[in-house]
Amino acid sequence: MREQDARRIYSALLKRYPDARESPDAVCRGTPFEVLILTILSAQTTDTAVLKVKGPLFQKYPAPARLAQAEAPDVEEIIHSLGYYHAKAKNIIAASQALLDRFGGSVPGTMAELLTIPGVGRKTANIVLYHALGKNEGIAVDTHVRRLAQRIGFSDTDNVAVIERDLMSLFPRDTWGDITDVLIAHGRTTCDAKKPLCDRCVISRSCRYYHEQSARR
Ligand code: SF4
Repeated sequence: MREQDARRIYSALLKRYPDARESPDAVCRGTPFEVLILTILSAQTTDTAVLKVKGPLFQKYPAPARLAQAEAPDVEEIIHSLGYYHAKAKNIIAASQALLDRFGGSVPGTMAELLTIPGVGRKTANIVLYHALGKNEGIAVDTHVRRLAQRIGFSDTDNVAVIERDLMSLFPRDTWGDITDVLIAHGRTTCDAKKPLCDRCVISRSCRYYHEQSARR
C-alpha cells in the first residue's frame, strides 16, 4: 500500500473515532507503574476484566516496593479472574523487583530497558512508552491491530514484528501511538474478527478485504 493511501485511511478512522486516543477507562491510563502492570495483566483477556482488578490490586500494592515483596498467592487471589493468573502474578512481582533492583523503583524510558523486564514484550513496551511516557518508539500490535493491518492491506503477514515494521514505514512517527488506539477502536466497533460490518465501514472503499469479498460475490 502507498503511504498516501494509508494516511488517508488513518485520517478517516481518526475522524470516525475522535475519542479513541483519550478513553479514560483504558488500561493504559495511570502512572507509569500502573500502566506497566495493567498492560502485563491484559494479555489474553479484556480491558474490562483488567479494570475490575485495578482498584483492589493498587490499593494493596500502590508502588513497586510493595508489589515486589508480595506473596504470589496473595496477588493471585486478587487477579484470579484473569486468565493465566499464576504466570501473571509471578511476572508482575518479578517486574516490580526488576524496577527496584535495576531502575531505582521507576519505569525505564527506553525500549531496550523495558524489554529486560519480566513479562514485557514489544507490545507492552510500546504501550508503556507512549501512554505513560509520551514516547513513540514503535507501534503496539495487539490482536485488533494485527487483524486490521492484514485486512485493510497495511501488511501481508501474520508476524507481529513484521506488521509493526510495515506500519512504522507507512505512518509518520508522531502518529505511531495513536495508530494503535484508532485501529483498536475500529476493531471493537466495526471490524469484528468473526463478523466485520463492512457495509457500515468508513474505509470500505480502501480496504483490501472488502474488495476481495466483493469480487467473490
Ligand atoms: S471494510 Fe470490512 S474488513 Fe475492511 S476495515 Fe472495514 S469492516 Fe474491516
